Amino acid sequence: MTELHEYVGAVHLHSCYSDGSGTLREIAAAGGRAGLDYVVVTDHDTLRPREDGWQGWRDGVLLVPGVEITCRDRSHVVALGAAEVANLQFKPLRRVLFDLQNQGAAAFVAHAHPAHIMGISLKAGELLDWDIPGFTGVELWSFMHDICNGLMPWRIPSFIYTWRRRIRGPHPDTVAHWDRVTRHRRFAAIGSLDNHAMVMPVFGKQVLSYEEGFRTLRTHVLTREWTGPAVLRVHSPAPAALSLLRNGAVMDWTTGTDLEHRAEEAGVYRVEARFEGRPWVYTNPVYLRPVTK
Ligand SMILES: [Zn+2]
Ligand SMILES: [Zn+2]
Repeated sequence: MTELHEYVGAVHLHSCYSDGSGTLREIAAAGGRAGLDYVVVTDHDTLRPREDGWQGWRDGVLLVPGVEITCRDRSHVVALGAAEVANLQFKPLRRVLFDLQNQGAAAFVAHAHPAHIMGISLKAGELLDWDIPGFTGVELWSFMHDICNGLMPWRIPSFIYTWRRRIRGPHPDTVAHWDRVTRHRRFAAIGSLDNHAMVMPVFGKQVLSYEEGFRTLRTHVLTREWTGPAVLRVHSPAPAALSLLRNGAVMDWTTGTDLEHRAEEAGVYRVEARFEGRPWVYTNPVYLRPVTK
């Protein structure tokens, strides 16, 4: 059995290359203080951070410049490994994905169910066409959209102090759609911050600094493929409410640090953990398929 490597990082950040407040140097330093292994910055419609040489290790953090592309219908696609995006802004979604696929890039649905404030969507509408060829996966939990959803404008000043109480988890419709899609194809989930670390004009204080954001939602990358008998073992670093789901339905659950389940049936298995009553971890699925001869 090969060794398992685990890298913990944050995906979907905006720097001052687009509408974020921080430099790449500040973002890497914040990632280092928060103990991250990698940070994926995704500025709007530009790969300039990479062109300017920011890809690589800095302060012990691997900086990975990706991109967030704005399509014609204003839907957003997060791409990793794209070579050239200069001509993709405001192009139709299918064209963008076709192009990214040809470049060998991984493309993710960004904030499939965006936040609404007083009935008005913060971004374009829902993006549910996940079966368009070229998508690798989805931002299952878009943190900024989670904590901003339903925020009343007069509560915005106190938001810098109250955002922690607004953490609810991934949008349930996004999770349900993901469970439908993973029944018939592989579809990876990532956690997304969509943090801009904006500075409030009147108070001069940052709404969710980069470092605060890095201590919230992370995406763990495991590099070895799972092999072995069909016994699923869940281990949590802290006692939590652990649920094992098969094809979107709970099969087994416990409260504690470990859960072991003998899988009798093929299916798409994944784990949800809640910590102190709050949503905490959503794992990508393990695909158990019958042996084909
Ligand atoms: Zn976006
Ligand atoms: Zn964004």
